Amino acid sequence: MIFTKKQVQLPDSLIDKKETTLMNEISFDIPDCNNFLVDIDGTLTSYKSSVTHDKLLHGNFLFPVIRDMMLERGWKQSDAESAILELTEKVVYWDYTDFLAEFHLPADEAFRRMYDWHMENLIPCEDGVELVKTLHLAGKRLFIMSNNPYMGCVLKLQAAGLADDDFSTPYFKRIFGTNILRGCKCVIDVWLRVLANIPVAPSEICVIGDNPKEDRDLPRACGIGHHILLERETIQHGVENTGKTI
Ligand SMILES: [Mg+2]
Repeated sequence: MIFTKKQVQLPDSLIDKKETTLMNEISFDIPDCNNFLVDIDGTLTSYKSSVTHDKLLHGNFLFPVIRDMMLERGWKQSDAESAILELTEKVVYWDYTDFLAEFHLPADEAFRRMYDWHMENLIPCEDGVELVKTLHLAGKRLFIMSNNPYMGCVLKLQAAGLADDDFSTPYFKRIFGTNILRGCKCVIDVWLRVLANIPVAPSEICVIGDNPKEDRDLPRACGIGHHILLERETIQHGVENTGKTI
C-alpha cells in the first residue's frame, strides 16, 4: 500500500510550549492518517536482561506476585499455584483483576506490588514513547493494541510514563488488551475485532510496532493502510511468549 510520508505538523497553539522540543529530537516519517494502533512490548517497553524465564509462574511474570500474596494469607504453595492455573483455564481471556477477585486479594496492595515489579524490571523504549507523545501533541487518535490483558497494558504504560497512578492515560483513546479482543495479535480474527471497534476505514489506520508479522503483515492482510515498524535487534513478546494460547 502506497502512502504519503510527511513529518507530523503540530498545531500553532503549541508552538511556544517546551514540549515542541520533541519535534527536534526525533525524525519519524509519519503516514498521512489520523488513527494509530500502538503495540507495547518491544515498542513502548522492554524487559531488563535480569528478567529471566525461571522467574515465571505458568508462563507469566506477575503470577508470582499473586501467588506470594496468597501464601502470606495462609495458602500452601502448591495449592496456590494450582488455583492460579485453574483460573486461567476457567477464564481464558483473564485479566489480573480476575485473580484478585477470586482469591480475595486487596487491589491496593496488589497493584502497588505489580507496579513495583514493572518499575524494577521494565525500561521504556525512548523512540516509541517519544513517537506517542509527538502524535498526541499533533492531535492524532491513538489506541493501544497489545498481547497483554487490559491491566497488564496499563501497568506497562505506567512504566513507560504514559499512564497515571489512577490507571488513566491522557495519550490513548482506548486500550485493546487480550481480554477485550479475546486473543492475541498473531490471530487475524483479533485484527478483525479491533477494526470493528474503530469507526474509520482500515486504509486510514496506521499500526506502530516492532514485529514484522504481527504489526505489518497481518494488519496489512486486513486492509490496514499504514505501518511504522521500529527497528529492534530481537522481538520482545508479552504474555504470548509462554507458549500458552490466550
Ligand atoms: Mg511488540
